[in-house]
Amino acid sequence: MDLTQDEIIEKLDSGEIRIFEIEKYTKTANEAADIRRKYIEIKTGTQLKHISKYSIDMTDTAKKNIENPIGTIQIPVGVVGPIVIDNNEENIETYVPMATTEGALLASVNRGCSVIRRSNGCNVSILSNQMTRAPVLKTKSVHDANKLKKWIEDNFDKIKEVAQSTTNHGKLLKIDPIAIVGRFVYPRFVYETGDSMGMNMVTIATQKALDLIEKENNIHIIALSGNFCVDKKASAVNLIEGRGKSVVAEVIVPKEVVERVLKTTTDAIVEVNYAKNLVGSAIAGSYGYNAHYANMVAAIFLATGQDPAHVVEGSLGITSAENDNGDLYFSVTLPDLPVATVGGGTRLETAVESLNLLNAKGSNKVNRYASIVAGIVLAGELSLVGALAAGHLARAHEELGR
Ligand code: NAP
Repeated sequence: MDLTQDEIIEKLDSGEIRIFEIEKYTKTANEAADIRRKYIEIKTGTQLKHISKYSIDMTDTAKKNIENPIGTIQIPVGVVGPIVIDNNEENIETYVPMATTEGALLASVNRGCSVIRRSNGCNVSILSNQMTRAPVLKTKSVHDANKLKKWIEDNFDKIKEVAQSTTNHGKLLKIDPIAIVGRFVYPRFVYETGDSMGMNMVTIATQKALDLIEKENNIHIIALSGNFCVDKKASAVNLIEGRGKSVVAEVIVPKEVVERVLKTTTDAIVEVNYAKNLVGSAIAGSYGYNAHYANMVAAIFLATGQDPAHVVEGSLGITSAENDNGDLYFSVTLPDLPVATVGGGTRLETAVESLNLLNAKGSNKVNRYASIVAGIVLAGELSLVGALAAGHLARAHEELGR
């Protein structure tokens, strides 16, 4: 049916067309987004002129990344660097895009990058690549719950074959731990997911595995996710077992660089780290034994099309600082960093540009990408802990926009 924009808006108003059906009546997804936005402007009496300006193509975006689009938001993006990293696969030297509204963040991270360069770069090690899904299954009794756990352990190869039949890149590594509470069973499916973050991949694979488990056991599947995964929530199990990419970054900062660039001493940094990141976090019962991983993770995630809700997982981790014969040994450990260089939001045009800037777009790039995130977290953490040790954090915020 050919309708004009005004006619579609009229039918939206009368309820004949619903807000998610506009695409059926337009030639392009961008046109549908324009009409939906105009309708919302009329209904709410607001002007959305900045949200209306964008250059991305809504065709695939509306199919894969968002429903009911009305435009895009704009977040300022800047660069820091270069960051210099040896990840045991390649030597990386790159500028890094970060999107944020927090004044002083990029200035601080940039200072950290400079400290790392003057320290001959940092080392990054990727410990594991494992995305998880843990359904909750109900059995008839605690005896049956234990029997089911044993059945899953004994039939791992069969379950693996069925789960992996849904994907080319996903590999089921293990189903472990399998937690039992009363007669509920929570098997934690652990997959390697290549260059994708993998949540859609492992959800589809786990559903197929559950079909088999349900067919061969007298159980009831309560939910495909039983919150023992743990997706998008801070948790001890992710901190201990790892989720997404588990990554560690370290640098040894010469004493002179600590004093000249960070304007403090090795011992002062070690003490701030101990009192704040370790003891302070312990009394808070926090899983983030660090100063601000979330700041760097969020800004890089936004610039490069990662799932922003995974910042909560990227915020977990432990910072260590030691006096190494007067020099500063400093490290960040990120056990739970769900990241991708294919799939999800990495296909968006702005994300593609940012990932290309990092030379980290597409297949066989996820280790490079995860290494850069860890290197930047190290830079930001070092700079902030250094600033606290030097006592000039408040001054920096006053001068650089609060
Ligand atoms: P995806 O967009 O479905 O991308 C993964 C797909 O890319 C895989 O299915 C894989 O195909 C293919 N692929 C091509 N080259 C690859 C390579 N080199 N390495 C790995 N895979 C490759 O998304 P996803 O990564 O599985 O999940 C990300 C999305 O999930 C995000 O948009 C996120 O917001 C969303 N998400 C979903 C849930 C959920 O419960 N479903 C939860 C949180 C987030 P093959 O499988 O055939 O190998």
